[in-house]
Amino acid sequence: MEAAAPDLVTAVIGFRQWRLHGVELWSLLAMDRWRRGVQTAHCDRRDHDAPANGCTCGIYAWYAPPPRGASAATPDLVAGAVALWGQIELHAHGMRGQHAMVVALALPYSWGDKRRSILAAADAFDVAAVPARKLKAAALEHGELIPRRMRPPDTTPNKRKAPGEPAPARLRAVADGYPGRSPARRGDAVP
Ligand SMILES: [Zn+2]
Repeated sequence: MEAAAPDLVTAVIGFRQWRLHGVELWSLLAMDRWRRGVQTAHCDRRDHDAPANGCTCGIYAWYAPPPRGASAATPDLVAGAVALWGQIELHAHGMRGQHAMVVALALPYSWGDKRRSILAAADAFDVAAVPARKLKAAALEHGELIPRRMRPPDTTPNKRKAPGEPAPARLRAVADGYPGRSPARRGDAVP
């Protein structure tokens, strides 16, 4: 059953992980390279606008940042925040959006190559690179979190399971648009 469409007046903030290839960011599930600026979702399976209810298309993002250790132990995973707008399908732990833009990247604890790559990626994307603990605060300069009351309940038996691909959405929302503010706040970058 689908609820009525609530309207969100600003961009919505979500969190993702990417794989670093040099200073390029690639999606983990789909072989898509993210680029500076607006990403717009397309459906590979059917002829409809993405995201569609009951499909798997759209740009994926979680409501909360991934656990800080999740990417730290790997040489190439990077966590970050995106602003999403347009049509948005809400799931228990995350959403699928129509348009998205990277707004901040999280720096690893470690110094070295990975940190340098993330700083260079942030520079190429013209976004802030901040310590993981500050990712949410940095992201909230660009939009709002989906309120808890709007999130569909988690009906899976194992709630401690890491969030994976979301189940089919039961609620859809419309976010009016990215407020047009520059995501670039170079001065915010923390060394
Ligand atoms: Zn689709």
